[in-house]
Amino acid sequence: MTFLTFYGGVNEIGGNKILLEDKGTKIFIDFGKSFAQDRKFFEHFLKPRKSNGINDHLRMGILPDIPGIYRDDLMEFAGRKLVEPDVQGVLISHAHADHVDNASFLHEKIPLYMGETCKGVLQALDERGKNFERAILDFAPLGSKQGDPPTQRIINTFRSGKKFKIDSLEINPLHVDHSVPGAYGFIIYTSEGPIVYTADLRRHGTRGDMTEEFISEAKAAKPIALLAEGTRITDLESDENEQKVYNESLNVISNCNNLVFVDFNFKDVDRVRTFYNIAKKTGRKFVVKMKDCRYLKYFHNDKNLDIPNYDDEHIIIYKLRQRSGTFSNSDYYGDDSYYSRLPNAKSPIEIAQHPDKYLCALGFYSFNSLIDMNPNAGAVYIHSASEPWTEEQEFGVERRDNWIDHFSMEQHQIHCSGHAKGQDLLDMVKEIDAKMLYPIHTDHPEEYKKITDKITIIEQGKKYKI
Ligand SMILES: [Zn+2]
Ligand SMILES: [Zn+2]
Repeated sequence: MTFLTFYGGVNEIGGNKILLEDKGTKIFIDFGKSFAQDRKFFEHFLKPRKSNGINDHLRMGILPDIPGIYRDDLMEFAGRKLVEPDVQGVLISHAHADHVDNASFLHEKIPLYMGETCKGVLQALDERGKNFERAILDFAPLGSKQGDPPTQRIINTFRSGKKFKIDSLEINPLHVDHSVPGAYGFIIYTSEGPIVYTADLRRHGTRGDMTEEFISEAKAAKPIALLAEGTRITDLESDENEQKVYNESLNVISNCNNLVFVDFNFKDVDRVRTFYNIAKKTGRKFVVKMKDCRYLKYFHNDKNLDIPNYDDEHIIIYKLRQRSGTFSNSDYYGDDSYYSRLPNAKSPIEIAQHPDKYLCALGFYSFNSLIDMNPNAGAVYIHSASEPWTEEQEFGVERRDNWIDHFSMEQHQIHCSGHAKGQDLLDMVKEIDAKMLYPIHTDHPEEYKKITDKITIIEQGKKYKI
């Protein structure tokens, strides 16, 4: 008997937490954070309290209350009976928060399985700064003191197409193209037949060939169940691609003799490459935050990604104004003290002397740097990320526009999504043609009814026999 229970990714984009049970083997497919659930009760200054362990998360339904999966220190604090973990593994599809972050609360005896590159991205994230809600590779148990060694999780890495087993289940991880490197879909061979999980993917990206390969393998497997994402299912047609982002941005930046500020997610390796190449092409230096040097280090290590390291001749490391406010070496601690002393580290004051020589990949949260750089009217801001979709984000846009007006900047929206457009999703699902479709990671699961009647509209926490 094989069962699926969906504890997240139900009528929401992200938060995937899917329990697969097969002949006594239990695994989770992703264990991501549900932003929708979190947003229902919490916001910036009202957060689940670390001082209450995992209680705030369980009581407010941010985490499913399942025995035998969470850390002993958290369960003990919650006054629960400690039981041996009852799950044999968690498959992590990729390093986005809505797929991996809640693994921070899982028992350290439950092994996590992820791609090599995904692990590299998580290491970079850790080096940028850890917190209670994001401690995936290792964590500090409640009550531990500074300097105590963290508790390590068991991390097993896989490579695309190399099958592995978790008890009775055999898993074939297959790389797919998405807006973070190291993203995988899975074909899971259960006692009832194969189950396919798409995770997040797109067909229009720079490595669409990987997604196509995944789709043909998935089809060939003749799956009994397909768990397909549907983020942009209502967004049927678009002509976006990374080359278009490159061309349009190059056009804007070539025509600008002023400062250029770009805003994108640094985990998106394609976007990093796009703007780095534009900087080179237009005779500008690519300015990155010290925090993002961690990503460059891991991306550069992965030869497939073709990304320069932080000491590259075309890269400038941006020195934030902090502590004394004088950009002196003693203002930077930890790894930052290393980055701040490198010969290619520059302060905003130095950048302001030749604004047309830089392409600043600093983003909205560094807008206070504009006060230091004080650009002349006509500086360019390129927003290269998705448009806002929540009310809170809408407020953010208003604030962003205020900054742009204040400095009389020119604003552009140039982006290509990490998710397949609607028509590509519908074609994919038709092509794989599984016995049963379970739409996940979407606000509009019923849209798939257009192309199939072999569909189950899932409910939160309900157990489905496969
Ligand atoms: Zn996602
Ligand atoms: Zn994703």
